[in-house]
Amino acid sequence: MSTTTNPEAGLSALYGSNCFSNAVMRERLPKSVFAELQAVQAGEAELSLAVAEVVAASMRDWAIEKGATHFTHWFHPLSGLSAEKHESFISPTGDGRVIMEFSGKELTKGEPDASSFPSGGLRATFEARGYTAWDATSPAFLKRSPSGVTLCIPTAFVSYFGHALDKKVPLLRSMEALSAVALRVLKSLGDTRSRRVVATVGPEQEYFLVSKAAFLKRPDLLLAGRTVFGSMPAKGQEMEDHYYGAIGEKVAAFMNELNTELWALGVAAKTQHNEVAPNQFELACIFTSANLAADANQLVMETIIKVAERHGLVALLHEKPFDGVNGSGKHINWSMSTDWGSNLLEPGDDPVSNARFLLFAAAVIEAVDTRAGLLRAAAATAGNDRRLGGNEAPPSVISIFLGEALSGILDALVEGRPCESPSGGCLEIGTSTLPKLPRDITDRNRTSPFAFTGNKFEFRMVASSQSAATPATVLNAAVAGVLAGYADRLEAVAAKGGNVASEVSRIVVESYKAHRRVVFDGNGYSPEWAKEAERRGLPRFRSAVEAIPEFASASAVALFSGLGVFSKEELESRCVIYLERYAKQINIEAGVMGDMSRRSIFPAASRLAAEFAREGTELAAVGAPSAAQELRARRLAELAASLAEKTEVLEKALEAAQEIEEPLACAKAYRESVVPRMDELRLVGDALERLMDKAAWPFPSYEDLLFTL
Ligand code: ADP
Ligand code: MG
Repeated sequence: MSTTTNPEAGLSALYGSNCFSNAVMRERLPKSVFAELQAVQAGEAELSLAVAEVVAASMRDWAIEKGATHFTHWFHPLSGLSAEKHESFISPTGDGRVIMEFSGKELTKGEPDASSFPSGGLRATFEARGYTAWDATSPAFLKRSPSGVTLCIPTAFVSYFGHALDKKVPLLRSMEALSAVALRVLKSLGDTRSRRVVATVGPEQEYFLVSKAAFLKRPDLLLAGRTVFGSMPAKGQEMEDHYYGAIGEKVAAFMNELNTELWALGVAAKTQHNEVAPNQFELACIFTSANLAADANQLVMETIIKVAERHGLVALLHEKPFDGVNGSGKHINWSMSTDWGSNLLEPGDDPVSNARFLLFAAAVIEAVDTRAGLLRAAAATAGNDRRLGGNEAPPSVISIFLGEALSGILDALVEGRPCESPSGGCLEIGTSTLPKLPRDITDRNRTSPFAFTGNKFEFRMVASSQSAATPATVLNAAVAGVLAGYADRLEAVAAKGGNVASEVSRIVVESYKAHRRVVFDGNGYSPEWAKEAERRGLPRFRSAVEAIPEFASASAVALFSGLGVFSKEELESRCVIYLERYAKQINIEAGVMGDMSRRSIFPAASRLAAEFAREGTELAAVGAPSAAQELRARRLAELAASLAEKTEVLEKALEAAQEIEEPLACAKAYRESVVPRMDELRLVGDALERLMDKAAWPFPSYEDLLFTL
């Protein structure tokens, strides 16, 4: 018997097999219902209960055929995780039997008890109800676990009064706002074809893997997701032998299963490779609309964690699990596309598409300069504070890398001089047409927080553990805000019968002149850049606590509420939630640190000091050299004393911070008095680790954690 298999056929049977995708719906729904649903997805119609009933019945049949017994509304509360509340399809018939039911109402509306999700004051206690509503643009999918199969319905989560309690609602609103203004701009440029503009996102997810056995012996990893003690072994990442290195068998088996799971969910996991640090990896998915990409990224994070478990591994999504090696980010590749798939950040090869490209690129540059604080806030987490600016990740100053070709062209435009195309020929710049651009105008700069990469921008500052929705929402809104101004100008010129093309040139030149201070093509990790950025007046937010309040600044409120993305109350609630989250995270880290120090490190160090002292005395008694033992005993005892003292100082600072009620003041106390005490305590702990017998050190070392897969 032939055993040959066809991998392509296998893959196409696997891909999306756990996803109630449009392809499945096209097959299973009556034509008219599918057409109506497509109109809903395109934002052109409201979902009627009649359509919902038909979709729900079809979804139930499909899910039950595949073994599902339960369904859940799957949503993204502001904790940054995904939430679900499982309900069974079972419905009693009244005669002692049950049938499997799932109504249109159950598909479109859920009522989870919202009171335990963070709302930042948005949900008055007398009205704790929250509602989830199906997001018809994101396909339902099946989750398989040892406890069974569950149909998951991606939903938005709102309060009784319609406030967004999640990450999806503002993202969808920002996509709508961006589409509306981008369309106005396109129409002014003579585009009669496009009906929508879609924000596209392709996230790259970095993570670490460690052995589960070692992980379980590290209370800090277990409780806080990062090591609060740990001295670097003789080898770190300096050999650069891990980056793009061959993937080991254990990890390859994990990745294989991870891909299979993601593909079955219809998540287009595309590339995987070893990252810079030992045991660090990256997974990138093929880009799609921002909303689907954010949902898919939540699934990617969940699935990485779940599959790692099955392989005796633990996945760490924290931004900085280990000091001394690179941390993890989530790069948000972002662009805008028409509904028929034309990328607005793709340089064209005729004057009209060039004008379009330069206009939209100018809008992004202007948005990044004017909304730098918001972008920084969109990447603000306690974990990211440990990564940004650490000579491994973008600094906490927002700048844009354009590459020589693009910045050269824009500089020449602004200065009114002819610009050379990189291929050598002279580019023509008229007053009414913009230059012909070379096709591939990209080079790479890994040190920039925001880089143009040929036909999209890559926001590299984002934190590995956070939802992709927040940075995408901020980007969409920031660019929409700028495009609204451009649309006003272009429409005014067109209304007067003026020359729109000249106005495009004027906008690009004026905007770039005003905002090119944010463009920096040099080494973002260098200390000179920090000084230069200050000279240019670019804002710098050293920590999450400084950045988060940007969400509620007057200019942010004006932008977001003007576009209908966030109300003032919604922004204020996010500030509160993010600040509280920061404080809670540091509180756990500091708590676990005090515990490890008091209960494990101090006793071990002190015992060892006494042992060396005893040995010294015994050796001296027989006239043998004992100075080394005595010296070691003294050094250990001194460090142990310092450890005890610094632990006490930390715990005092912690208690004081815990007393503070007001969220900003509380987060500030954690940042300004707890974090520095943690760093001081760590120095002593790490010095002890270097001095103590390996066998006496109470935790697995960095060697065990980073070099043993
Ligand atoms: P690199 O390592 O050079 O950043 P990757 O292949 O790891 O490249 O990641 C590139 C990411 O950018 C992928 O997720 C890809 O799907 C995404 N991407 C490509 N084009 C676009 C686009 N127009 N909009 C958004 N994301 C895009
Ligand atoms: Mg990248």
